[in-house]
Amino acid sequence: MTQTCQDTAIPETHIPPAVCNSIALSKLRSISSGFGPLLTRQYVKDADTQTDDDFMADMEMKHKMRIEEKELIEKRAPTTMDFLLGVARECVVHELKPGAIDRSMFLKCTPLKYDMDRFNLDKVHINTEGDMVNRKSDTRPVGEGRLKKYCGTCSTDPLPQDGCPQYWEVENRVSLDKPLSQTNLILEVGVCREEQRDADHCIDGRPYSYCMTVNHCTTHGGICRKIWKEGKHVLCLPDTLPNTAGASHTLHYGVVYDDARKKIVFIDVKEKKVMSTLDNVDCSEPLWPMFGVYNSDWVTVSMRLVVGSDIYMTEEKAMIVKALS
Ligand SMILES: [Zn+2]
Repeated sequence: MTQTCQDTAIPETHIPPAVCNSIALSKLRSISSGFGPLLTRQYVKDADTQTDDDFMADMEMKHKMRIEEKELIEKRAPTTMDFLLGVARECVVHELKPGAIDRSMFLKCTPLKYDMDRFNLDKVHINTEGDMVNRKSDTRPVGEGRLKKYCGTCSTDPLPQDGCPQYWEVENRVSLDKPLSQTNLILEVGVCREEQRDADHCIDGRPYSYCMTVNHCTTHGGICRKIWKEGKHVLCLPDTLPNTAGASHTLHYGVVYDDARKKIVFIDVKEKKVMSTLDNVDCSEPLWPMFGVYNSDWVTVSMRLVVGSDIYMTEEKAMIVKALS
């Protein structure tokens, strides 16, 4: 593969974002060191004209370099700590395994924020407490780039892909003004690629999206939590929220995004249960957290983003995540 990459000219247009995962590289080096010295392309090229003595000297030099490199990698193990200290400056980090040294064994409570410049003015507003409500905005701030179709907003930035699992929560106050019917949506939380953010009023049916919706379900005749992967419905869990006018409820969910393991986990925080774990998540391009609230004629929803030190990390929650790691 490396040979192919080296032989192929780098295209001038469309350079995909580089994902640097130094953990994988050091693991690869460590594994390959068990077989013998790493031969470079230069060496292969010169092989025809080399004498046996040259060859042995070359091998010896490479062996020495390999030992030095191995020592360097071992010395550099504390970089995980540097990384964590860097992360800890801006968000809260929890250990998933006591004494963990690998960053994939830490859970980072990413400081996500609603994008105030992008939320759909015709469908939602952000109230003075910073919660997103499914009522259109009275104010009309000027500016381009607002979501026009999606009933909600995205976060200010896509999720970093640094091999460290990330976690955030949404706490929703929901009150039903009229019973829901058909597949009426209450809310949605998930992630998708940049170009999918405003393709529809929700992302559940879109490619490159992974999400959870709460909506009326025709199969179960009530309100259900539904999990979606790349536009396909994968799971339906009936909720205890009754579909009657006047009913109000708090719905509290957590999302784990793990680019190293290519997993997304949806947690019901109130029930202290994992609802679903999605595997083989396509992390080849950055994913954006999405937040949607719907159907103002039937329901009032206010969604509060719970991040960083506001997340109450119970042992149970850490164990749930650990079990999935
Ligand atoms: Zn259902």
